Amino acid sequence: MIDFCHLCQATKDHNNWKAYFDIIDGKRQLIQICGEHYNPIPYEFTTAEIKEDRKKYFKDIIQPYRGNELSREFVDAYPKQAQKMIKDPERLKKARDVWKDQPGYNNFRTIHPLT
Ligand SMILES: [Zn+2]
Repeated sequence: MIDFCHLCQATKDHNNWKAYFDIIDGKRQLIQICGEHYNPIPYEFTTAEIKEDRKKYFKDIIQPYRGNELSREFVDAYPKQAQKMIKDPERLKKARDVWKDQPGYNNFRTIHPLT
């Protein structure tokens, strides 16, 4: 599939693509990256400036999965969206906090305490 890779800053022909939300110029944007970058996940690509933004916009850019693990942060922040995505209530219950190491996590948890 040929598409524009945000990290290569070029059009690439690649079999694997991932899309995720990030903050660019203060706006939540859907980013596409080619398979060359996400080993294991794209979340760590960052600059100091983006790190600050991620802290601020933690909720906006929570990804539903880290690897194969369902994010409880995502389920807590977007319960309706999560229920739509994951039909099996047992799987929803198994969601775990997977973004603890990300800036803004503690802030987020004071607003969305664990139940
Ligand atoms: Zn690329």
